[in-house]
Amino acid sequence: MNPLSQVVRAARPVFRSISTTAPAASAPKPIPPTGICFELSDEQKALQELARKFTREEITPMAAHYDKTGEYPWPIVKKAWEIGLMNGHVPEHCGGLNLGVFESCIVCEEIAFGCSGIMAAIYITDVGQTPVIIAGNKEQQKKYLGRLIEEPLVAAYCVTEPGAGSDVAGIKTKAEKKGDEWILNGQKMWITNGGVANWYFVLARTNPDPKCPAGKAFTGFIVERDWPGVTPGRKEQNMGQRASDTRGITFEDVRIPKENVLIGEGAGFKIAMGAFDKTRPPVAAGATGLANRALYEATKYALERKTFGVPIAYHQGVAFLLADMATGVETARLAWQKAAWMVDHGQKNTTIASVAKLHASEIANKAASDAVQIFGGNGFNTDYPVEKLMRDAKIYQIYEGTSQIQRVIISREVLNAAKNTA
Ligand SMILES: Cc1cc2nc3c(=O)[nH]c(=O)nc-3n(C[C@H](O)[C@H](O)[C@H](O)COP(=O)(O)OP(=O)(O)OC[C@H]3O[C@@H](n4cnc5c(N)ncnc54)[C@H](O)[C@@H]3O)c2cc1C
Repeated sequence: MNPLSQVVRAARPVFRSISTTAPAASAPKPIPPTGICFELSDEQKALQELARKFTREEITPMAAHYDKTGEYPWPIVKKAWEIGLMNGHVPEHCGGLNLGVFESCIVCEEIAFGCSGIMAAIYITDVGQTPVIIAGNKEQQKKYLGRLIEEPLVAAYCVTEPGAGSDVAGIKTKAEKKGDEWILNGQKMWITNGGVANWYFVLARTNPDPKCPAGKAFTGFIVERDWPGVTPGRKEQNMGQRASDTRGITFEDVRIPKENVLIGEGAGFKIAMGAFDKTRPPVAAGATGLANRALYEATKYALERKTFGVPIAYHQGVAFLLADMATGVETARLAWQKAAWMVDHGQKNTTIASVAKLHASEIANKAASDAVQIFGGNGFNTDYPVEKLMRDAKIYQIYEGTSQIQRVIISREVLNAAKNTA
């Protein structure tokens, strides 16, 4: 039996036992009667161990290959799907395990330690699925989430356009109602999984009146990749996370049946924005994993490389960089843990999700840059692992809302709280 099969055999019963005890999709987990506890449950530890082993055996050895070729890592995605590292959050009535955001975060941190590009390939399908999880009816969930459980397929989240990213209310893709159908026209950009997804969550303007508030002007749809008029563009050549598939997508007179509207006309903006409460913590966890890898590589190198007769780790200037990295990893992890725990327990986590995403993104970029510094000239070279970390880290400050947008959200909360207490 190969090592992966052993892991699968060992882990499957654990996941089954999680699935039988987990609450229904809509019900938040009950808050335990005890105080704060930083110990993972046995199931979470097993999941972490599974993801760690998978990363060590399947992802880390292939990371440089996928970074170089830019190929989508289908063989790895299929194995991750097979052993249960994907789609953990899918509700039980669709055949899923109904795990929490916290569990997704555990997997994301481990996988991003090996390669954050492959993490994007494995995780960002969850971002496409989240609107269906939070707003889909039972039939929509069974049809579209169930499909991802039955076969190793992925979804995508289609909101950004060439002319509008941060300013979501500025999107121009439109859908018009014709009888029992909607006709979709427009252009999306920077869609992760754009070329490989089986279906997309698409946000489109359905009220042409420019005075209509964003909360009523947009509708969320499930759109299948194979429908006539759906055309993904070329794979974009990005600075980092090159294993991830990012494309523009054109929609030309795409006919969407009314059954594929999420909640109803005008509900799309809230669905698209609400998804971030669940998707930002795992992205923050991925950035934490990358920062942890930078710390790991830099520490190992600093103990091996000697200058002035001693390992460079013994120079305080280098040791302090390691200390700062370790501090960043710890605090970034605490932030995603709190953000994930809150949303899993039914608490409003929008601000802490932004705090986690902002902090982990900044930490990942600083840690990767400091790791390159510690490697000296070698750090600038593709034969060593840290230049890739620096390229991969940058996108964390851009996707899932830029660092500036996270600050807009956090500062709004700070100012509102101050006004309310004044
Ligand atoms: C590799 C990659 C993968 C992506 N995956 C997806 C995906 O799967 N689905 C999807 O829908 N989108 C995706 N995106 C899009 C991503 O979310 C957007 O690029 C991002 O939200 C920024 O939008 P923009 O590029 O239009 O920049 P803009 O919104 O034009 O912003 C440009 C700059 O201005 C700053 N800025 C804008 N508004 C403000 C403000 N109010 N205050 C201060 N600063 C501001 C921004 O922070 C940024 O620095 C992806 C992007 C990339 C590059």
